[in-house]
This record gives sequence, structure tokens and C-alpha cells, in this order.
Amino acid sequence: DPRLKAISEAIRVVPHFPKPGIMFQDITTLLLDHKAFKDTVDIFVDRYRDMGISVVAGIEARGFMFGPSIALAIGAKFVPLRKPRKLPGEVISEAYVLEYGTDCLEMHVGAVQPRERALVIDDLVATGGTLSAAIRLLERAGAQVVECACVVGLREVKGQHGLNGKPLYILVEPR
Ligand code: 5GP
Repeated sequence: DPRLKAISEAIRVVPHFPKPGIMFQDITTLLLDHKAFKDTVDIFVDRYRDMGISVVAGIEARGFMFGPSIALAIGAKFVPLRKPRKLPGEVISEAYVLEYGTDCLEMHVGAVQPRERALVIDDLVATGGTLSAAIRLLERAGAQVVECACVVGLREVKGQHGLNGKPLYILVEPR
């Protein structure tokens, strides 16, 4: 797809953020580039529009920057998966392992109905731990996770971690 090169180039790489040694893939510069931003959303919309998806679940915070546009375009609802203690209603929680310690994602009870078909969206997948927690949340609510989608990811993640057997779709590799 000829659009992918410009999408990749619109993502800024910030060395040593948030700590030494990390090459941070900054998608805020992609959001500044109208054509690259629109192409990113369009590619996802074209892929998911006829897959019977009724839920787009976005992971805080950068999944929120792509998920709602995709949801509106494919006729689905948007469900935010948030960090602990942000959602006001009753929640279910799933912990996941970070490099140091653990974190948690939460989803409102009742946001998703049993047997709904869900897409999980985030900006970037590294180990797949965050996406796996998102999958567990949706499956606990009875939803079927059709696929996980990220703008940036390592091609090997899928094979290494499997994401509980769910397919992973990524647009570009880290630069
Ligand atoms: P994982 O759980 O797959 O190891 O890490 C993915 C999560 O970390 C995503 O929620 C993603 O937003 C965040 N993340 C890790 N590294 C980067 C990075 O270099 N750039 C951006 N934008 N997000 C990152």
C-alpha cells in the first residue's frame, strides 16, 4: 500500500523518552498530518467495515485517538478501556505485566453485550501484554474479539505472543 510509507514517516521517533535507551514512536506528529492521519483511519475502516464489528474498544490513551473515528465510520460503538480509577461506573479489571511491575485496564460493566464482535485498537504493540489484557476484558464480558489493530508494531509480536490466538493487524514497523 503506497500510503504506508508516508504514514511511517509522519511518526516521529524520540530517542531516550520516557527513559534512556527507549526509541519512542510519537504518533502525535501523525495526527498533525491530515493526509497521513486520514489514510491511517481509512485503511482500518476499509479493513473492518464489512466484518460485522459492533464494538471498537480503544486502549487509553492513544487508542482513543484512532478508535472513535473508526467506530463512527464502520457503524460500531466505541468502548474506552481505561487505566485504574478513571471510569465512574462499575468496572471489570485485568492486570498486565510491565517491564517493572504491573498495570491494569478497566472496562465498564454493561458496555459490551455477550456475543458482540469486537475490534481492539491501540497506537503501538510492543510485547502484546496490553492488548492481551484488553482481549481478556472483552472475553470476560462475553464478546468475541475479531482482531487487534495497531498503527505501529513489530512483525514478530504475533508469532511470539499470539495474543490469546487473536490475529494482529499492524500498519508499519517501528523506525
Ligand atoms: P506492550 O503492552 O505491547 O508491551 O506495550 C504497548 C503499550 O505501550 C501501548 O499502549 C503503547 O501505547 C505503549 N507504548 C510503548 N512504547 C511506545 C512507543 O514507543 N510509542 C508509543 N506511542 N507508545 C508506546
